[in-house]
Amino acid sequence: MVKKPRPQVKPIPAKPANVAKAEMIQTPAGRPAGSANRHYADLVVLPPACPMCEGTNFTPRQQTISREINGTLLDGRIYNRIVWSKARCTGCGQWVAFREFHLVNPQ
Ligand SMILES: [Zn+2]
Repeated sequence: MVKKPRPQVKPIPAKPANVAKAEMIQTPAGRPAGSANRHYADLVVLPPACPMCEGTNFTPRQQTISREINGTLLDGRIYNRIVWSKARCTGCGQWVAFREFHLVNPQ
């Protein structure tokens, strides 16, 4: 039995050093020494879902209207802006009208 000659494997040339990567290496990683840990408040966000298919992906909002209106939601949270907009669900094509209650720059 005759062995087939193995194909010659060319050595992979070393990549030239990436300038941006080299700059990143020179900057110290992490926060400055002696600085305190930053506290992150835990925030769970539930995106709006399509009432027909429960999908959460929509086309960009259209016909957006924003008004400075003060009020209180049923759960006690206050708002000072209402934003209405319309979009289409990318899952089933259903048009959806959004109504968002914002609290902008609370005092
Ligand atoms: Zn849908």
